[in-house]
Amino acid sequence: MRQPDEDAPRLGYVEPLEQESISHYLGRLRYFKANHLPSAYALGQAAGIGAVTARWEKLYFNPFPIEEELGAIARLIGLDPSRFQAMLPHRDMTLQSRPIRLCGACYAEIPCHRMVWQYKDIVAVCTRHNLRLLERCPSCKRPFQIPAVWTDGKCHHCTMRFTAMVKYQERGKKDG
Ligand SMILES: [Zn+2]
Ligand SMILES: [Zn+2]
Repeated sequence: MRQPDEDAPRLGYVEPLEQESISHYLGRLRYFKANHLPSAYALGQAAGIGAVTARWEKLYFNPFPIEEELGAIARLIGLDPSRFQAMLPHRDMTLQSRPIRLCGACYAEIPCHRMVWQYKDIVAVCTRHNLRLLERCPSCKRPFQIPAVWTDGKCHHCTMRFTAMVKYQERGKKDG
C-alpha cells in the first residue's frame, strides 16, 4: 500500500526575491492563488507551529525564530531552509520594527520590502540610492502597513503607487 509522502511540499512554491524580508515573503506565499491561506494563523497551523508566523509578519522576532519552525514552513513549500534564514534580520543588527520603511527606487527594481530598511543601526537612508527611506505615505501621511499585506504595491489608504513615492525621498547626506 502506498503511503502519502509526508515530505512532499503541500503549498505552491513562491521564489524568494533578493533581500526580501520574511514578512513580505510570507504575505506573498499566503496570497499566492494556489495556497488559499487567508490568515497568518492558517499558515502556522498548516506547518504545525501555531501562531508564530503572525508575529513574523509584523516583524516581531522575540523570541527569535528557531530552526525547527523555519524548517516546518520550508518543507511545506519545498524551499531550502537556508533561504528562509536569509529573510530574517541579522542577529547582530538591532531591528526597529516600526515604522515600516520604504525606498521607492528599490521597490521599482525589485518589488519587495527589504529587511535592511528596518535596521536601527543604520541611518534611515537607502545606501543603494542615497535616498532617505520613507516612514509614511508622502501623499496621505499614513504609516505603511506591514509588508505581508503589500500585495498591490500601493498605499492601502490613498492608493499612491510605491514606485511613485521615489520623488518624495530626500537625498541622503551630501558628500564632501
Ligand atoms: Zn533604494
Ligand atoms: Zn497614502
